[in-house]
Amino acid sequence: MVPGGDDGWAVYYRARTMQAAGAQVTMLAIGEHDRPTPAPILDAIDRAARRGDLLGYAPVPGLPALREAVAAWVAARTGVATGPDNVLITAGGQAALFAAHMLALEPGQTGLYLDPFYATYPGTVRAAGGRAVAVPTRADHGFAPEPEAVAAAARATGARSLLINTPNNPTGAVYSRQALDGLARVCLEADLLLISDEVYDGQVWDGAHLSPRALPGMADRVLVAGSMSKSFAMTGSRIGWLVGPEDAIAALIKLMTHTTYGLPGYLQAGALWALTEGGLALEAEVAAPFARRRALLAEALAATPVLRAPPIAGAMYGFVDVRGTGMSGISFAEGLLAQERIAVMPGESFGAGGAGHIRLSLTADDDVLRAALDRLVAFAESQAALA
Ligand code: PLP
Repeated sequence: MVPGGDDGWAVYYRARTMQAAGAQVTMLAIGEHDRPTPAPILDAIDRAARRGDLLGYAPVPGLPALREAVAAWVAARTGVATGPDNVLITAGGQAALFAAHMLALEPGQTGLYLDPFYATYPGTVRAAGGRAVAVPTRADHGFAPEPEAVAAAARATGARSLLINTPNNPTGAVYSRQALDGLARVCLEADLLLISDEVYDGQVWDGAHLSPRALPGMADRVLVAGSMSKSFAMTGSRIGWLVGPEDAIAALIKLMTHTTYGLPGYLQAGALWALTEGGLALEAEVAAPFARRRALLAEALAATPVLRAPPIAGAMYGFVDVRGTGMSGISFAEGLLAQERIAVMPGESFGAGGAGHIRLSLTADDDVLRAALDRLVAFAESQAALA
């Protein structure tokens, strides 16, 4: 599933070991909020658990009320008619991505994905028995998808699926309508299932989120992965969903029956409260710090010619080009951890297209982040002076 080799995760594990040994490390390496799940969601979970009726096995595809609520949420956001039979509740967006690939691929068939990519993508395709093939995107094109390159890869491999992610982790790109139209055309021509990872759809700072499921002719070939993790700070509750055609969802209920056998009903009750009572206002409250902090990153980078980053259009990460220092992403991240005790991810851990970059999560308090960014810039300048 995950062939070995230095993929850059060593930096993260070293930071964790340093923390465990008592060192003060500023952790900007993972996609997890610096706040707990909102208290009213925890209250809803607590009430549901104590009431007692959601402590037994929950229905395998998800609580009916939660499937309804997700359908209404998705329909309101995308404009695409969506009912509860289009929704499967999964253990986070990650399990939705796995389920989608189980549906899309027979053993040995090719699943395409774009590079740079969220770290689990190739392993997820392989876990479903597929052959994982990356299609590059380019830093000097803002990491936008290039439909011609996808079409060529689909022709060369006979691929059955394409996995995309907008807003994007790690690059912060939000795909334009034109790019998504181009990808939709390729999917229709090459008969690809489009697996659309939209777990950051509530965190868009420039432009607007467009779900490819809303594009003409696409609703019956798009499977959308969504999640409560990022939008409602519920990473540990493991509640996500897959949205797609009814027959696809019906088939995947069988997969769930033979794998997770459903998810805890009382945690689903928390998600239900968040979507129906917390709603857009609560989602915006959870997202607000990232909008502020992306401005802090832009400010810090404006002070140096050595580092460059496109504006973060969406999600909670900065993807910073460190090639001006003469260093790789891995050596920059290693040096930054050793010298400044700041943990970031080397861009190389997100694929070849991320080489020479670092990804930093905007997941520290504003003051802590501001101070860490000042030190990061000073570190970069000192390294550039040595080069
Ligand atoms: N997709 C992307 C792009 C992510 O960044 C993540 C988590 O970091 C996930 C999916 C999985 O999230 P979860 O399984 O918690 O919903």
